Amino acid sequence: MSVLSIPVSAMIPVARPYIGSEEEKAVIDVLRSGWVTQGPRVAEFEEKFSSYIGCDYSVAVSSCTTALHLAFMAIGVGPGDEVICPSLSFIATANSITYTGATPIFADIDLSTYNIDPARLEEVISPRTKAILVVHQIGLPAEMNEILAVANKHGLVVIEDAACAIGSEYDGKLIGKPLGTMACFSFHPRKILTTGEGGMITTSNAKLAERLRRLRQHAMSLSDVVRHNATQVSSETYDEVGYNFRMTDMQAAIGITQLGRLASFLERRRYFAARYTKALQNLPWVQTPVVPTNCRPNYQSYMVRLTGDSATKRDAIMQNLLEKKISTRRAIMATHREPPYRSAHWESRLLQTNLACDTALILPLFHQMTESEQDYIIEALRTC
Ligand SMILES: *Cc1c(COP(=O)(O)O)cnc(C)c1O
Repeated sequence: MSVLSIPVSAMIPVARPYIGSEEEKAVIDVLRSGWVTQGPRVAEFEEKFSSYIGCDYSVAVSSCTTALHLAFMAIGVGPGDEVICPSLSFIATANSITYTGATPIFADIDLSTYNIDPARLEEVISPRTKAILVVHQIGLPAEMNEILAVANKHGLVVIEDAACAIGSEYDGKLIGKPLGTMACFSFHPRKILTTGEGGMITTSNAKLAERLRRLRQHAMSLSDVVRHNATQVSSETYDEVGYNFRMTDMQAAIGITQLGRLASFLERRRYFAARYTKALQNLPWVQTPVVPTNCRPNYQSYMVRLTGDSATKRDAIMQNLLEKKISTRRAIMATHREPPYRSAHWESRLLQTNLACDTALILPLFHQMTESEQDYIIEALRTC
């Protein structure tokens, strides 16, 4: 094939948000409406999110990081507590635990799925363990049935970091239809559905939903909507220290529009992912994604792992691709290698995490990508 001769004028990015004129119009309508934060569009986005996911309650917030922080505050995680999470995740996963004063304890992953290995949970459970923060990494659901069994045995709460997992399915159900106590989503532009910045917490627990709603708005006893519609003078109280984690109505309006297009986003990602797998699965030095039969990923990212001699050449391969105007990313980061969490203890225990971090590679995947761009990427990788 002479695919390599396809002229690529600009860099092929690793990801790109898909935002169009419908989103522009939705934002302008909000700006002209006079209500620009945590108002009618936020309420509508929450309702539509709940009906899409099939959950009872959705609570919109300013990001997935604040969603996770709020989830831990809502269940009373604090100083002296430990929360188990993977190190192989964006650093916000561990940070959300640290914000509460609790300590993140890292569990190793299963190298084939990049998710927490349920068999490695018990070795990190202690009398101080309060919760497990499960990550559905790059949109592949973690082994929830096994994780929940361990959690139930030890009386631990399970929170899901579903930042990357919108539209992903586990046992035939969308992630967010709670398996754990709460699931937290991200709408950062790097994710499949974006609102610029934004997050959502889903739960089936009415009391928790109510508490999340208060905490996101300074723990105010009456919402702005209630006060706005009140026919009698009413005064709110602030019974504890809350936060300002509100989502704006401009963001929610974008989210509603994006939610309407999510099915097409997912279809296109799954199409390109299947195309990558078909083309790369016979390369002996490339490990394509391993998908358990009860999981249907959304392919938030398409990540491969280099094996054999190629594993040590990952960075050189990335450089080679960059020179061909193909942008790639190193694997998911290992949080335990960053200064706030660095320790020899974790480095010597998280061997699968280290291996994934050192040898995996994220290839470009975005809605507007073309087949010829993908063919060019595939051929460039083959001939690296
Ligand atoms: C992106 C991401 C986050 C943070 O999401 P924000 O909305 O940017 O705060 C947290 N966890 C994981 C696994 C992520 O990928």
